[in-house]
Amino acid sequence: MEKEEKGELFVVATPIGNLEDITLRAIQVLKEVDIIAAEDTRHTLKLLNHLEISKPLISYHRHNEEIKTDDLLEKLEQGQNVALVSDAGTPGICDPGEVIIQKCIEKKIKVIPIPGACAMINALIASGISTKEFVFLGFLPLNKKLRKEKLKEIETCKKTIILYEAPHKLVHTLQDLKDILENRKIVLARELTKIHEEFIRGTIDEIIEKSENLKGEMVLIIEKNEEKNEDISQNLTLQEHYQFYERQGLEKKEIIKRIAKDRKVNKNEIYKNFIEHQ
Ligand code: SAM
Repeated sequence: MEKEEKGELFVVATPIGNLEDITLRAIQVLKEVDIIAAEDTRHTLKLLNHLEISKPLISYHRHNEEIKTDDLLEKLEQGQNVALVSDAGTPGICDPGEVIIQKCIEKKIKVIPIPGACAMINALIASGISTKEFVFLGFLPLNKKLRKEKLKEIETCKKTIILYEAPHKLVHTLQDLKDILENRKIVLARELTKIHEEFIRGTIDEIIEKSENLKGEMVLIIEKNEEKNEDISQNLTLQEHYQFYERQGLEKKEIIKRIAKDRKVNKNEIYKNFIEHQ
């Protein structure tokens, strides 16, 4: 008996706000597949109606990912083509996708990415912060220990950092970042591709000031940690170390705090030293 040909899994990016942000190829694929697996079928139905596409929809979200993966694999094995979409943007990026993609690879089912919108990339490219090297950390964990570890990673990271955040957790996240970012640049990209699209740029203090009661979807882009100040401190006298921060326009109190941190000594020791030498 001739072996039946397997279907293919298309991982299709959909708009992150503006419904026009879908590629011709994505539309073609959505028209041609046998089934569309969608994170929220009602949400995807709106997009399909806009595109005048009528297709069987299967719900595929975080809470049924394991069971539905088996269902979809069976259909793919039988030769049906499946398009995987999420509510917005690129599936698999802080959205379901990983599980079925890995299983398809194991079962030698072809996985075809159909490129399109992704919030982190659009926030990054218009942020004005270096795009040369970057790290995407998704949402900061809520678990205290894991969150602390991630914040430590951000504190020392020598690459641009991208974070997703929900509006109701923004203030909490900005406060946590305040403790580690000092005067690094940060950009809050909000409501990308939508009517109220906005980029708020500044230091963490400036962002906190401007972000009260902010609503909508948002991405944070954080400048890399430019210099490892501990290294600098090893080659500078205390006076030179002070002048280094003074040139950055910092106030005395902040300078003393940073010197103490760089040199891993108590703030009072630095104060005492300055008073003795005045
Ligand atoms: N898969 C999506 C992507 O490709 O970007 C991300 C899905 S994740 C569940 C949702 C988060 O993405 C939001 O909380 C927000 O941080 C970010 N996001 C999605 N759409 C956005 C938009 N239009 N403007 C700003 N951020 C957006």
